[in-house]
Formats: sequence, C-alpha cells, structure tokens
Amino acid sequence: MFIDTHLHLEKRWLKDDTNRQFAIDDINKNKIITWAVTSDIQSYKETIEYAKQSKYIFASFGVLPWYAHEYVDRFDEIAKLCEEAIMLGEIGLDEKYAKDKACIPHQKPMLEIFLKEAEKNNKIMNLHFRGKERESFEIIKSYKIKKPIFHGYSGEIDLMKEINDLGYYYSIGRRYNEEKLLEIPDDLLLLEIDVLPTEDFKVPSEVFSDMLERHAKVRNITLEELEAINQKNVLRLIGDDPNLNEMKKLIQG
Ligand SMILES: [Zn+2]
Repeated sequence: MFIDTHLHLEKRWLKDDTNRQFAIDDINKNKIITWAVTSDIQSYKETIEYAKQSKYIFASFGVLPWYAHEYVDRFDEIAKLCEEAIMLGEIGLDEKYAKDKACIPHQKPMLEIFLKEAEKNNKIMNLHFRGKERESFEIIKSYKIKKPIFHGYSGEIDLMKEINDLGYYYSIGRRYNEEKLLEIPDDLLLLEIDVLPTEDFKVPSEVFSDMLERHAKVRNITLEELEAINQKNVLRLIGDDPNLNEMKKLIQG
C-alpha cells in the first residue's frame, strides 16, 4: 500500500484546480493514504474540504515558518487549531528561504505552540528545518515529543547519528541525497511526495511509484520491502491514537 506522509494539495502549491482533482481522484482510485500537510490557516481549512472527497486523505495543521510574522496576532487561534488537528505540520524553522525576514523572530515562538501540543497529546509532527538544523534539533529535544518527522532533512550527516539515537523520523521525497538516505535506519524512514510536479504534472501514484523505485535501488532492497518499511513505520507512529483509528483500519485492511 502506498502511504504518502507529506503532500501539499492546497492552492498555494497546487494552483491548478483540475490537476488537484486528478490528484484526489488518483488517491481514491489507488487507495493512497495521504497526509495532507498545510502551510497556513487558510490552506488548512481548504485542505479539510479536500479531505471530505476522500477517506484516504487526512489533513494535518501547519503554518510554514516563512509566514510566522503574519500570524503573531493569531497565536491563540493557532493553539486552538493545533488542539483540534489530528496531526501537526508542516511547521519549523527556516531563515534560509525566508523571503520576508520579518518572520524570523516569530518562527520559534510559533513552533513552540505546536511543540507544546505535540508533547501534550503525543501528536505526529511534520517538521521543516532548513539551515540551523543543529539548533532546531536542540529545540525539539527539549520537548518530550515522540513523533517528530524531519521532512526532507537537509542538515549535516554527523547530526543524523544523534537524531537516530533519539528515534526521530525522516521523510524522504523525490529529491534526496544518497549518502543521507543510506544513513537512515529502516525503522525511521518514511516516504513523501511533498509537492506534485507542476510543469509536467503527474498524479500521486505515478510520482510515488517512481520514487519507490529510485529509493529502493539506493537502499538495495525491493519495492515491496521499501513499501513494507514505510507502512510499518507509519503504523508505529499511529500507535493507538484514537484520532487516527480510521487511518489505521484502512492500512490494516
Ligand atoms: Zn512540504
């Protein structure tokens, strides 16, 4: 079974409504469990609507660090949405790709709202860190969270040993570094599409198949073995979370 732990269906990343419909239809047809991460309050609300079109799509609430300054006055609302959400992300720290530097001082306080909720209710958390991975790791570590996922990990290879020791997860997509992919233990690896290609649009099942093939080759295992690794890790993350019971049933058939 295909399980995509990080996909953007929202208008911000998937502008074409027709393509979005193709993607949702494809997810239904191929029964792809999809964690639809979001980038702000608007895209979360949007994604909750898309999720109504598919029992395989599960919306996750996040606000990308680049938009932190736009939400300073709405941190209470963010905390409430975190509490309501079944999963968190994507959320994180990113000064490197911040177009408007005004977001920088507000990134950490915003991330901490999510971390508190993840800690309190043991929620899955899709994390976006670009640059300052060490510092980000130290912040994460200071909270008692069990289900953080480093999405598209871009830090040093040395830091991975410490991340592995703590049992934090990684989600790897179409763009990856072979050396780092090999550094991830089987029980911490997750697969993700992230953003569907817009120029030469492809539906999730095609993107996922292609990705599986390339990752399996790097790890020198079969496609089935890689799918099983991903599935097993997703089930471990779901655990006995009552909010994710439907998802668990779909995976276990
Ligand atoms: Zn993303």
